[in-house]
Amino acid sequence: MRAAYLTGHGGNEVVCIGERPRPVRQDGEVLVRLHAATVNRVDLYMRDSGAGITHTLPLIMGLDGAGIVAELDEEEERALRPGQRVVLHPGITCGRCEFCRRGDDVLCTAMQLLGEHRDGTFAEYVSVPARNVFPLPEGWDDAEAAALGVNHLTAWRMLFTQARLRAHETVLVFGIGGGVSLAALQLAKAAGARVIVTSRDAAKLERALALGADEAVNGSTQDIAKTVLALTGGRGVDVVIENVGAAVWGAALKSLVRGGRLVTCGATSGDQPGADLRRMFIRQLKVFGSTLGTLAEFADLLAFCGRTGVRPMIDSSHALERVTQALDRLESGQQFGKVVVAIGQ
Ligand SMILES: [Zn+2]
Repeated sequence: MRAAYLTGHGGNEVVCIGERPRPVRQDGEVLVRLHAATVNRVDLYMRDSGAGITHTLPLIMGLDGAGIVAELDEEEERALRPGQRVVLHPGITCGRCEFCRRGDDVLCTAMQLLGEHRDGTFAEYVSVPARNVFPLPEGWDDAEAAALGVNHLTAWRMLFTQARLRAHETVLVFGIGGGVSLAALQLAKAAGARVIVTSRDAAKLERALALGADEAVNGSTQDIAKTVLALTGGRGVDVVIENVGAAVWGAALKSLVRGGRLVTCGATSGDQPGADLRRMFIRQLKVFGSTLGTLAEFADLLAFCGRTGVRPMIDSSHALERVTQALDRLESGQQFGKVVVAIGQ
């Protein structure tokens, strides 16, 4: 089968596009014929280093994906059937550890992620446990569906599980344009919240306003915390959704109302900001770390998007044979929405 796989680490030269053996489906697994996947920051990390992530080379890249069921156990046909359109949850868990047993499977101590610990989705086929395969709601195209599996799932857990966002609240989303930030904007708006977005790029702010953001703050020309306080009558926001890291951490804490909640899922500008502990305890701020989401949260996300019509934004689509173009596009930081890898049918 055709696949994009890593033969080493360090730049696009280690990304090969060629033939790999089709995965052999194990009992309890579903073999999926993939039609689309998207690129995520971790694909760049795996390409460039992969340090700290147990894996063997060659490794097929790609975390998220959508396609059709190619092969499955007979008893699985109560839930899925051959030819059915499906979307994947990218985290394969043990089902036995303390965290899996209490239903917080995203904390699994033996979690294997597609494209990191095992072969991923930039390929014609992938075989994953049946519980990771979800029927696609009606009317979705493959690229939109694939785009849900990492960024929207991450944003869902941040907003609704960690921050417990309520409809009358105000959310501040940093770095609009990135996948998680756009997902947070869409999901928070669909849930009824007021959303303020930030970016250093005026064009991205314009597009976010067109998508429904209530207010936009330009981080290159405005003081973010002061502007957010002005926009909220001096009060501050209830929830901050943040994955920029050190460059905005101080502004993020200063933008929160007393008792406000900050959720972080990334640190692209650095992971060691000043903690501002006095502000945290005096104003009783809550800080949550979050990454990806559980199988149950993915089911909730799919139902929510089916009901509300939320669809991921697609920046651009690139054929599997030109996957390095897709990686470059993500690395440029110029994208607005998800960069798709289209897998020939
Ligand atoms: Zn586990």
